[in-house]
Amino acid sequence: MQMRIGFGFDSHPFEKGKKLVLGGVEIEGEWGLKGVSDADVVIHALCDALLGAIGEEDLGQLFPDTDEANLGRDSTEFLEYVMRLVRDKGYRVNNVDITIILEKPYLSPYKEVMRKKLSALLDIGEEEIGLKAKRPEGLGVKECCICMAFVVLTKD
Ligand code: MG
Repeated sequence: MQMRIGFGFDSHPFEKGKKLVLGGVEIEGEWGLKGVSDADVVIHALCDALLGAIGEEDLGQLFPDTDEANLGRDSTEFLEYVMRLVRDKGYRVNNVDITIILEKPYLSPYKEVMRKKLSALLDIGEEEIGLKAKRPEGLGVKECCICMAFVVLTKD
């Protein structure tokens, strides 16, 4: 069995009046994240982790900010594309571990639905998804949302 590990990182600044979409799930509130697409940091970090694991270019290379087709785009489409690349190389996702760092809102009420959504997108069980939210204590970065993700891929 072959195994690959990938790591992804992303951050987007908060902006009033924007939608907040994390892990493909819309989160209620006045503040959302600014970006060219829907600014879903969780999906972006996951895509980069998967792309890194299979030795591909990063998400920004595949879907540039300068391409109008990516304006307001649903980031789950990026993940669907990246998962096709993973499958084409004969890999499947074994497990993922995600840490979201943000001051607010509290994500606990949304974790179950996020896990369900990611489970379908990654084609793995919900128990294979680690999903943590932490406050950026002492980091001085209350104005943005950060996500870090590790993935493990396997191939028979
Ligand atoms: Mg991004």
